[in-house]
Amino acid sequence: MTNELCPNCRVLTDAVVSMFEKEIKEKGEVYNVISRSYNCSMCNTFIRCENIKSKYKKD
Ligand SMILES: [Zn+2]
Repeated sequence: MTNELCPNCRVLTDAVVSMFEKEIKEKGEVYNVISRSYNCSMCNTFIRCENIKSKYKKD
């Protein structure tokens, strides 16, 4: 849980974080992208998301 400012409630709320991973190809290289999205725990409004890109590791 993390505190985020909800644009709908206009208060700091415990955000619900959901994570998913995907692979993308860019200029012949494979990257692993982890996306984290934050939603308000009270009204479920989408607050923000983060993408963390790292070089894909085969092992
Ligand atoms: Zn809210």
